[in-house]
Amino acid sequence: MKRHTGQDRSVTQNWKPATQAVRGGTMRSEWGETSEAIFLTSGYAYDCAGDAAARFAGEQTGMTYSRLQNPTTEMLEHRIALLEGAEACRTMASGMAAMTAALLCQLQTGDHLVGGRAAFGSCRWLTDTLLPKFGIETTVVDARDPQQFVDAVRPNTKVFFFETPANPTMDVVDLRAVCGIARERGITTVVDNAFATPALQRPMDYGADVVAYSATKMMDGQGRVLAGAVCGTEDFVTNTLLPFTRNTGPTLSAFNAWVVLKGLETLDLRIKRQSENALKVGRFLEGRVPRVNFPGLPSHVQHELAMSQMAMAGPIFSLQLDGGRSQAHGLLDALTLIDISNNIGDSRSLMTHPSSTTHSGVAEDKRIEMGVTEGMLRLNVGLEDPEDLIADLDQALRAVGL
Ligand SMILES: *Cc1c(COP(=O)(O)O)cnc(C)c1O
Repeated sequence: MKRHTGQDRSVTQNWKPATQAVRGGTMRSEWGETSEAIFLTSGYAYDCAGDAAARFAGEQTGMTYSRLQNPTTEMLEHRIALLEGAEACRTMASGMAAMTAALLCQLQTGDHLVGGRAAFGSCRWLTDTLLPKFGIETTVVDARDPQQFVDAVRPNTKVFFFETPANPTMDVVDLRAVCGIARERGITTVVDNAFATPALQRPMDYGADVVAYSATKMMDGQGRVLAGAVCGTEDFVTNTLLPFTRNTGPTLSAFNAWVVLKGLETLDLRIKRQSENALKVGRFLEGRVPRVNFPGLPSHVQHELAMSQMAMAGPIFSLQLDGGRSQAHGLLDALTLIDISNNIGDSRSLMTHPSSTTHSGVAEDKRIEMGVTEGMLRLNVGLEDPEDLIADLDQALRAVGL
């Protein structure tokens, strides 16, 4: 492998994000390929037994086994770390593998975690079900209000865990305030940045310690593979995260890493165009449905906060109908272009009914408390022409009497 300049952090960190997204992390084999190679190999051969021993002892650089290292995933890790402004990154098999690893690697029985109550369904399962099962206490708060984090802190609080904007209510968390509260108390913040990605928001710029991703969403961006990533300091990744992941194995496949590498090359272009399209679609919907939850629109109560920490509002938002599940399902069933699908971040427009899909595993009282009502729909606005999307929504709204 030739160490391309893309692997030299002293060079790559001075590049602008668009350059980092295309060239960051690149390594080249003896063939000089321009596009990154996919190394579908589980193991690596050594020139002699002494080399194998030296590599296992950490005295020689190089790869030993693809649960631990792989050239393709390493290229992706370098690229994500650069874009995030993080010292280090490790990729994972999915977003949930990333969230689970980011939390379990640093928590133990007797610790306490404070989580945002508006969250992706499986993230709520981690705070509500998995962590308590191992004697890790958890408290969920309305993360829009930084004071609630202050009030929830106990002597054993180790981690704040939240997403912003949150899936699917679009609650926005004041990153500077909440990360500041954590810093003062020696608490680690773990931010799920799947909705914004580093192209729109870099939580570490506001004091976040760990940023975790579902790279399945905007980073792949074309609905192809599952992937995740955890970013942090070199010390956190090497001494806290790696002992957990090397031995438990939530490893990203080299093939999926390659797909996400290709996705990152166009992330900036896609997320900007999709954000613009989402604003057009959101403005149309505002006049037609009782409520649109979109931090990109001035009508959102946290619009100014969102725009102070995000470059653009992103492609995802939710809306509220008054007619409950039957009207929401009716609207979905009347769509002819936009797909009924619970994925997000895709270049295709997708719409889902969270309370009967992504959040059906969250207990009803908790769902209602976080604002996921029966009349809520979530929309991922893709790269199609927004006029076609608006026409599809217009006819579907009319079909349900709106
Ligand atoms: C999708 C999603 C996840 C889970 O990611 P997977 O790649 O599906 O495992 C976690 N958090 C948020 C905010 C998500 O949208």
